[in-house]
Amino acid sequence: MELVLEGVSKAYGTQMALDGVSFSVHPGEVVALVGPNGSGKSSLIKAIATIHTTTGGTVSIDGRDVRAIDPIELAMLLGYVPQGFSYTLYSTVFETVLMGRRRYIKWSVSDEELSRVQRALDALEMGQHAAKFMDELSGGERQKVFIARALAQEPRIFLFDEPTSALDIRYQIEVMETMRRITREQNSSMIVAVHDLNLAYRYADAVVVLNRGKMVGYGKPCDVLTPDCIRSVYGVDSFAVENEYGKFIVPFRARESSGI
Ligand code: ADP
Ligand code: MG
Repeated sequence: MELVLEGVSKAYGTQMALDGVSFSVHPGEVVALVGPNGSGKSSLIKAIATIHTTTGGTVSIDGRDVRAIDPIELAMLLGYVPQGFSYTLYSTVFETVLMGRRRYIKWSVSDEELSRVQRALDALEMGQHAAKFMDELSGGERQKVFIARALAQEPRIFLFDEPTSALDIRYQIEVMETMRRITREQNSSMIVAVHDLNLAYRYADAVVVLNRGKMVGYGKPCDVLTPDCIRSVYGVDSFAVENEYGKFIVPFRARESSGI
């Protein structure tokens, strides 16, 4: 499915959190959203998920304005994992992931649905925790449960708001790798807000750089995530190193006054 954002703006009172953001996401593509705290990443994801009403512009899926799509259909198309997820203390890991299938379940849960849930948990290496209660998990494990829930839902577009923030370095890589593989295999799309520029660099087909609500960069990671861009957006000096494993960004110094 083709997701197109045209001039998307969002104001909270007089503050512009998003100001005329336009880009598109093609099937099979992973798009990383990067930018400093408060730059509008979550607001953008919420605008796509219609959690927020926008103040300008349009978001469309295959040419249909998301606001005109039936909410139940939209909930099937989009797999949204918010930044601050909430969970029910008294549900198990398995039940939480099963909730991702609620749009598909009629009166009783079929074996097929149960095995879908189990597969999603296994993909995140959470299968062995299925019977645990949500409050018996670490923060990172809980984060993986919510990713598994989005996976079980089998949406056309994944919307992940900092999905790896609570994960250790091994799982940051594994989750990004797994999600990129699944996105490509299913020919779905993934929009993911991340802080780690190296994760964006490595796993995204395109990067959208936000700064104070404006899109200040958009394109291939190697073209966009340059030391100049990082300096002007984050006020941080960095350099890139390249070796047989790829190209890496090394931020090393905060400039005295950020934003230049
Ligand atoms: P990011 O996810 O990039 O950190 P956000 O999209 O959460 O940024 O926030 C962008 C700006 O909008 C910030 O300045 C933030 O304070 C403001 N903002 C976010 N949500 C609200 C809200 N519900 N009400 C008022 N201001 C908000
Ligand atoms: Mg955010």
